[in-house]
Amino acid sequence: MVKLSTPTDVAKLLAQHGIRLKKKWGQNFLVDENILRKIVHTANLEQTDTVLEIGPGIGSLTQKLAEKVKAVTAVEIDARLFSVLQATLADYDNVELVHQDAMDFDWRAHCAQKPVKLVANLPYNVATPLFYRWLKEYRDCFSLFVCMVQKEVAQRIVAPPGGKAYGSLAVLCQYAGRCEIAFNVPRTVFFPRPDVSSAVVRITPLTNPSYDVGDERFFFRLVDAVFAQRRKTLFNTLHAALPFSKEELADAGAATGIDMSRRGETLSVEEFAKISRLLYTRKGSI
Ligand code: SAM
Repeated sequence: MVKLSTPTDVAKLLAQHGIRLKKKWGQNFLVDENILRKIVHTANLEQTDTVLEIGPGIGSLTQKLAEKVKAVTAVEIDARLFSVLQATLADYDNVELVHQDAMDFDWRAHCAQKPVKLVANLPYNVATPLFYRWLKEYRDCFSLFVCMVQKEVAQRIVAPPGGKAYGSLAVLCQYAGRCEIAFNVPRTVFFPRPDVSSAVVRITPLTNPSYDVGDERFFFRLVDAVFAQRRKTLFNTLHAALPFSKEELADAGAATGIDMSRRGETLSVEEFAKISRLLYTRKGSI
């Protein structure tokens, strides 16, 4: 097997293929066996699992995944890496490599049989938009997400109400799944070393979320509106963004017991759900 576990191995391999890494694609490769093992362990992989990986890079994580599961589909944007991947994954016949931007990938086509596990060291530039997309539109396609992201993104996913890190990403993730930071990852385990630290998040999507929001699209719209004006009162943001009169909003506050003079960013996910459900059911459709 082609060795990928030290910066020297990786530098040599890239030089052999004449590849210079691109920062815009977040090309920082894992060169630490222990972290790779921990990611695989966190994903609780079984022989019957199908795994989707975004950004296989030179295949360090892909090798470990392929050893454990039935099939891996790995989506990579950089065509230059395919000659490397063909070499590093030559021993595995259960890996399908797809040359595509993950933002254009057809998620549903890959979970037709049963939900898949998404295990990846995500490229930093698409991590957040991908989570929005996966959890808003394709939740039923996935049974688990185990993803390495920038530490700051991981903190935004698990953030409690009120703080700076709490925003629409936290509300969406915590509504749609059970979220935890599995472990932190130092900069030193990558080649080349990135500027920031990372963390591995584990999100178990919920087919039936814990809170009834009335209508998910309305809920997401309401949450986005609140965090677009996070310092304003709930009353003012909702009045500006949604078709409700002042009386209707005051009434909604009284009915839910939520003080509408609070800043929206202080609302828990449960409180967002409560106000969403009440407003949506009062209007019928929006
Ligand atoms: N999985 C490898 C590892 O752990 O060492 C590489 C991870 S590296 C952080 C991110 C990878 O994602 C790079 O190989 C990069 O080329 C790829 N990538 C960046 N943007 C992408 C996109 N939009 N779609 C698919 N792959 C992308």
